[in-house]
Amino acid sequence: MSLKDSKGEVIFVGAGPGDPELITVKGSRALERADRVIYAGSLVNPELLGICRKGTPVHDSAHLTLEEVVTLMTEGTMRGETIVRLHTGDPSMYGAVKEQFDYLDKQNIAYSVIPGVSSVFAAAAAIRQEFTLPGISQTLILTRLAGRTPVPEREALSKLAKHQASMAIFLSVQDMGSVVEALLEGGYPASTPIAVISKASWPEEEIILGTLETIEEKVKQAGVRKQAQILVGDFLDPANGYARSKLYDPTFTHEYRQGSKP
Ligand code: SAH
Repeated sequence: MSLKDSKGEVIFVGAGPGDPELITVKGSRALERADRVIYAGSLVNPELLGICRKGTPVHDSAHLTLEEVVTLMTEGTMRGETIVRLHTGDPSMYGAVKEQFDYLDKQNIAYSVIPGVSSVFAAAAAIRQEFTLPGISQTLILTRLAGRTPVPEREALSKLAKHQASMAIFLSVQDMGSVVEALLEGGYPASTPIAVISKASWPEEEIILGTLETIEEKVKQAGVRKQAQILVGDFLDPANGYARSKLYDPTFTHEYRQGSKP
């Protein structure tokens, strides 16, 4: 049998941020019918594996190389298996999925992607805030500090900070000092509010609120070193004086509603 004859498929599933109820219905159904699961054990809540049929083989990809992961996929799909590749949050953010897609394309193995709730949105939910406030910011920048994986120079945090848009910074809480420095260098005032949400939606969720002046010390005190979102921008400040929405303004006419005279 050649690879082209493989009858199985790989389904990439966004596991959501942690709370097992935050996987999508579609993702959950894929897990239910999976013949094999490869999950990112460092971040995915293992409770989700309880959705699988009893005895389904599961592999923690934290211990595997890309080559080992794709070998499992090739061999499994050759046997006709449906393999779920479970990634934390949404697979399209820092998921290292593209290299898997490219491999599967080359091997002519069928695959699809089911999105998930990214931790960036679980973090906003945890602190009950909105990134896009009229008059404050209509843009959310999702980014990270350069680490062992480099970030293109044109996307340096200090450069993105110049926009003063709402920002969510992944993979960076271990170096709060550099985050704060880059944000200040980019022009955010020291009084800018900033929130660190660790393990959003998990029972251990922790919320640390401060300003660019105070946050580094607070995060150090709390001992948060990983799995946290850093949210920054004036959308966090209750006193920022945002404008109310046009959409729900009684005087504003749009496709679905006739506004009254002001
Ligand atoms: N694809 C994932 C991100 C993977 S990169 C997503 O969409 O959320 C891993 C980074 O995501 C972590 O360093 C952290 O910044 C963030 N992260 C993942 N889960 C998190 C959670 N429950 N709470 C806060 N941040 C989280």
